[in-house]
Amino acid sequence: VAQPSTAASKLTDAAELISRTNVFIFDCDGVIWRGDSLIDGIPQTIEYLRSIGKRVFFVTNNSTKSRAGYLKKFTKLGLDAQAEEIFSSSFAAAAYLEQTNFKETGKKVYIIGEIGIPQELDLIDVPYIGGPDDSAKQPNMDPGGRLEHDPDVGAVIVGFDRFINYYKIQYAQLCINENPGCKFIATNLDAVTHLTDAQEWAGNGAMVGAIRGCTGQEPILVGKPSPLMIDYIVSKYDIERSEICMVGDRLDTDILFGKDNGLSSVLALSGVTTEARLKDPTNDIQPDSYVDSIADFLPRQ
Ligand code: PLP
Ligand code: CA
Repeated sequence: VAQPSTAASKLTDAAELISRTNVFIFDCDGVIWRGDSLIDGIPQTIEYLRSIGKRVFFVTNNSTKSRAGYLKKFTKLGLDAQAEEIFSSSFAAAAYLEQTNFKETGKKVYIIGEIGIPQELDLIDVPYIGGPDDSAKQPNMDPGGRLEHDPDVGAVIVGFDRFINYYKIQYAQLCINENPGCKFIATNLDAVTHLTDAQEWAGNGAMVGAIRGCTGQEPILVGKPSPLMIDYIVSKYDIERSEICMVGDRLDTDILFGKDNGLSSVLALSGVTTEARLKDPTNDIQPDSYVDSIADFLPRQ
């Protein structure tokens, strides 16, 4: 947990930061894009970092797409990336199941969430039910009505779901409360998100909150700020934490993810956090420094 620290100052020497950093981990929404629009100067910045030998990864808490889905988005936006460089919280949920040998239990997963989670579970060959298939269902709530649930569900994954309904909530509740040992996994806990530029929208904190509320259980978090994705990256690619800089726009996910996990951290003001919020005395999560946008990493002309 972050300790109150002195207020971060604006990054004045990008070249010095870049020279001591071998790996940049970029949050996506608010750093690379806002919704479906690319932020100015980003393809050039990423190209520049790659051209001087830096490794880049992208980590997003948005579970609605799989890695393959994000790769399509990157390509459409004209950004050069490989699927292996992209870590979504949908992928993190699948990685967690792999790490805990879930497949060997012979059980299945119940999904609250959009297409990203089923696509990731297909890749690891873990059976699942729910997700988009349950979006139009209603439980039988007539007198004496009951919803039957599958006793072989051994984990419920809760991700952002614009089509969450009472059927899905009741199904998840039955699995978690009645199936012994059933896990409750949250892809992320973001309170609000920027689905459109016009306002803030209820994030996955709302979906997770619904399930927490009816089960009294705390979820296992796999997205930022949980260490799962950084542990995965450092062990898979044999990278030292001291070589990594985490760059994000949210204090309670990205910057905490960096600070809690031994990475250096830079806040980009191109997303949800204002300079005033960063400097507010009640904010105890301070990055090492901040930039207007990661285009500030480009050498000055
Ligand atoms: N979850 C949802 C549903 C979102 O729409 C977003 C951002 O648009 C996020 C999470 C946060 O994503 P990121 O971690 O890339 O900022
Ligand atoms: Ca973000």
